[in-house]
Amino acid sequence: MKNTTHQPVKRDAHDLVLRSLQLEKTLESSGESVVIKDLNAVVTFWNPQATALYGFTAEEAIGQPLRDLHAADLSEEAYARVLTRVRSGQPSTATSDRKKKNGEVVHVLIRTTPLFDENGVLVAESTITRDLSDIRRAEDALEVAKAALKDKLTANRNLKTEVASRRKSELAMRDMNLAMERTVQKMEMLHRENETLLHLSELLQSCTDWDEAHAAVLETTQRLFPGVPGGLFIYRESRDVLMHAVSWGDSSPTSVLPEPLHPEDCWALRLGRPHSVNSPSAFRCRHLHGSTQPSICLPVHGQGQALGLLVLRVDADEDIQTRLTALASRIGPGFANLKLRESLRSLALRDTLTGLYNRRYMEEALKRLFISSRHSDKPFSILMVDIDHFKRFNDTFGHAAGDAVLAAIAKCLKNTVRTSDFACRYGGEELVVLMPDTSLDSAMERAEAIRMAIRESSITHDGQTLPACTASFGVAVSPTHGDNTPDLFKAADAALYRAKAEGRDRVCAAEAVTPSLAEASKAVSKAASKTASSAA
Ligand code: GH3
Ligand code: MG
Ligand code: MG
Repeated sequence: MKNTTHQPVKRDAHDLVLRSLQLEKTLESSGESVVIKDLNAVVTFWNPQATALYGFTAEEAIGQPLRDLHAADLSEEAYARVLTRVRSGQPSTATSDRKKKNGEVVHVLIRTTPLFDENGVLVAESTITRDLSDIRRAEDALEVAKAALKDKLTANRNLKTEVASRRKSELAMRDMNLAMERTVQKMEMLHRENETLLHLSELLQSCTDWDEAHAAVLETTQRLFPGVPGGLFIYRESRDVLMHAVSWGDSSPTSVLPEPLHPEDCWALRLGRPHSVNSPSAFRCRHLHGSTQPSICLPVHGQGQALGLLVLRVDADEDIQTRLTALASRIGPGFANLKLRESLRSLALRDTLTGLYNRRYMEEALKRLFISSRHSDKPFSILMVDIDHFKRFNDTFGHAAGDAVLAAIAKCLKNTVRTSDFACRYGGEELVVLMPDTSLDSAMERAEAIRMAIRESSITHDGQTLPACTASFGVAVSPTHGDNTPDLFKAADAALYRAKAEGRDRVCAAEAVTPSLAEASKAVSKAASKTASSAA
């Protein structure tokens, strides 16, 4: 049975002294602070380590309750808990703050052990106390170090995150810069292309003939599609087929398309939009004749109608299509414009009733013929044509019918002369044909052919078939009959008069005569002509 009454320890004199001396020795040499107190917490033993820990000497401590020693700062409840523990007879371990004599607070580990007398009665409690201040400081320092480390780790993590996000934004910035660079490059390229196309429009505006226009297209396509073969095809006047106009790259016209090109052989022309072929299975235009090369066709429009076709032998991506469309949009109006200017010019050059070259043009052409004939040393001939009894025809059938005859005879002329010849209306019902590089004999032959064609032509006007007209011809050759316009014309005129005088509907060659003789001959012709007409 444990004694739970709070009585001072009773000692059996001899034994107790002995035992207590032994115990004291043991406890003093234990190296730990040892305090023994009775059940009222009054100190009965205080070893030197306890003095070292709390600052109280054994003399000061023994006989004093803990309340007056190192437990001075404990609250009432805490002190009551100490007393309860002392009297409980139970061992305990706890950490706690205790006050030193000098007022400092020391953190300690307290381990208590109940002490019983030989009868098992609880008599006291021994306390072994260890100063934990160093450990606590170390722990505190560790905590501080841990906190610092944590801060550092956090900072490090933050730094890492920051570095990563900076790197990310650097990469994003680099991507953006690259994209911007590409955009700028693309814009510069577009600008250059626009300049090129603008230049083409300007050139086409100023072109005076088709050769110049084709050269302008050639230059532009070589800039827009370097190294890409292709060609341009233009509808001919009859609009039934397209003819090769110009090609570029290493392609001959026929390697792009054989000419002439039939519109129904091209998907782009049939559909009225670009048609590109980039795989062997794609719908191929017949004009490609089974070629397996990729290609694109694009119709060229001007003034509301298809004027032609652009063909490129290339696998056309969107960029190429855009460029090709832009090119076509410049060529179309440019060509239509040139066509218009050409027809306006021909209006100024040609007589409206007959469609033959007018007198002004004839005079210009004559000048050039004299020059080139002098250079080439080759003769050229002129035919002077006058419709027979045309006045009478007008009088009988009316002026409008006369106009129809004039137009029909002009057509005979146009159909019979060569493309190198110039059929002109000299004035009234007098027509002239200039024949470069032509001898007198050839010119006579040609005149004869025209005379027959006129004779045999059937002319209808207002539903009425008109009687065929005839015409008389005077032929002269330069330089034999004159090396200037007045002399040559005088000679041709004289021959014409002769043809009239000899009965009309015939061809007469000029004679190489002296001016005075020519005058005489003309006078004779005129007289003969008058006689003939009065006879008719
Ligand atoms: P020939 O030449 O055979 O001697 O007789 P001609 O009757 O043809 O000759 P003349 O010079 O006397 O008459 C020319 C006529 O041609 C007079 C004019 O009415 C006619 N003429 C001239 N220009 C035109 C024209 O543009 N249209 C029409 N319908 N008649 C024209
Ligand atoms: Mg006449
Ligand atoms: Mg006449």
